[in-house]
Amino acid sequence: MDAIEAAQVLSEIGYLLRQDAKERFRAKAFSAAAWSLALQRPDLADLHRAEKLTSIEGVGEGIARVLSDVIQTGASRYLNRLREQSKQPAREDESDLDFDDYRGDIHSHTNWSDGRATMLEMARGAQALGYSYLGITDHSPRITVVHGLNAERLVAQSREMADVQSQVDGMTLLQGIEVDILEDGSLDLPDAVLEILDIVIASPHVKLRQEPAAMTERMMRAVSHPHVDVIGHPTGRRPGSREGASYDFELVFREAAKRGVALEIDCDPARMDLSPEMARLASEYGCHFAIDADAHAPAEFAYVPMALWMARRAGIARDRILNFRSPDELTMTR
Ligand SMILES: [Zn+2]
Ligand SMILES: [Zn+2]
Repeated sequence: MDAIEAAQVLSEIGYLLRQDAKERFRAKAFSAAAWSLALQRPDLADLHRAEKLTSIEGVGEGIARVLSDVIQTGASRYLNRLREQSKQPAREDESDLDFDDYRGDIHSHTNWSDGRATMLEMARGAQALGYSYLGITDHSPRITVVHGLNAERLVAQSREMADVQSQVDGMTLLQGIEVDILEDGSLDLPDAVLEILDIVIASPHVKLRQEPAAMTERMMRAVSHPHVDVIGHPTGRRPGSREGASYDFELVFREAAKRGVALEIDCDPARMDLSPEMARLASEYGCHFAIDADAHAPAEFAYVPMALWMARRAGIARDRILNFRSPDELTMTR
């Protein structure tokens, strides 16, 4: 049981606890401890022997007890109980995915929009994890509060990207955008701009409570757009606090599969969108997936290793996940 495997156990506990409003704070504590394990990767066997598990940031007595169960037995009785209570048992047809094979993250933000770090800091963070590529996908103009990028600022950003690229060896920076899916399903930037970018992630951010029929039409239009590569956090849900959008998932996911548009599993613990259940459905319809951190700071890249259990639980095959491919193979689904 290494730190990443243990982080996944704590992450799943946090996820299941989030579904009960009363457990909100405990849920956050488990997610934070999972994050700290995925980030720092301490030697758990050593710490356990020395009875120093609580020296890990975010690990108090309660979480240390869960961890020591995991370290000693390779499983968590607490997690198993939660799975039973929430009727989300482990499944026999889970896939076998390893973070060692994860090649790069394609959804991240910088201080060009609402990220908290520079592009260089983000690039160095991804490089430190051994990624072969990183997609920089800041927000589009509609989100004015975060200084979304219009065509002019994207050009300026591409100049900075060339400079940053020259400072990170062995890692390819991809210039993209997280473009808003507007209420009518059109996108927040002209086609001519989307066309020249390496990655276009189209995400619903506002008006998530539209009538299902209108929402279906909106999502169908986005999925059918010729320049869209990925649908970002496809439901917009916030586990434990906000229900996501409701639409004809089968229709939209089947269209995405047909057009080779990937669906995102956003690993931010506040999102975890698609959920394992929804991702399983999408996988059965033939969809591809992008598993990413939606990182707004380098430390948040660690959301991916801690949440990889979601894709396993969904039974997604390795070859359906873009992030397990080399940068050249990324566009193979289109
Ligand atoms: Zn977003
Ligand atoms: Zn984002």
